Amino acid sequence: MPDYLIPGLFGFLLGTIVGSFLNVCIYRLPRDESIVFPGSHCPKCNAPIKWYDNIPLISYLLLGGKCRNCGEKISPVYPLVELLSGLLTSFIFIKFGLSFDSLYYSILTWFLIVISIIDIKELKVPVKPCYLIMVIGIIFSPFTSTVSLIDSILGASLGAGIILFIIETYYILRNKEGMGYGDANIMAVIGAFLGWKKVFFVIFFSSLIGAIIGIIFIITGDKDGESPLPFGPFLAIGGYLTIFLGNILLKFYLGG
Ligand SMILES: [Zn+2]
Repeated sequence: MPDYLIPGLFGFLLGTIVGSFLNVCIYRLPRDESIVFPGSHCPKCNAPIKWYDNIPLISYLLLGGKCRNCGEKISPVYPLVELLSGLLTSFIFIKFGLSFDSLYYSILTWFLIVISIIDIKELKVPVKPCYLIMVIGIIFSPFTSTVSLIDSILGASLGAGIILFIIETYYILRNKEGMGYGDANIMAVIGAFLGWKKVFFVIFFSSLIGAIIGIIFIITGDKDGESPLPFGPFLAIGGYLTIFLGNILLKFYLGG
């Protein structure tokens, strides 16, 4: 049996279960509702969702994507978020094994999934969850094998600072907003989890992916290149890639 199988499966199961909760966060955080009470209910008929209808991925398939009570279609985004969370968490556990580091980077990954989808749907980033997860990243950093406390604090500061610098520079040159302040909040969280040195890789990856997607949108005529794209998802992809590539790139740059 290959030794990545157990961590990979564990990560997938954990990721899909947490993914179910991430759906609650995605729906309720922009509405400023509690993410704990009341329990899940159908947005159409308000019927509470029974535990056996709330099993990640499986329930959606068994119910045929419809509410058991009123037959209202359930958005495929729900199972997709569970699947995405399962896969991304699984890769983390394969890379870091059954360790605290895996849990640490999973928390960042779950945050990035929630904040990306909220940013795409609402074109804004809620501040409170960013702040809370950033503090968690800083507090738990000393227990990881890769980030120190000071590294984490500097990472949060530098991450937010660079984005603010970009926002203000753009504003002075073009007299309008390019990126949003929400992006500074997201980057503060990513910096807190990855440390200050890797902030540069995250910015590099996100800009590259953002530029490619932006060009695709302009070519296909979906955007005129003037209206802003939500940048949160690009920061999220950059952050997730850097979890895996950060140490290799650091070694490369430091000539080690
Ligand atoms: Zn219903």
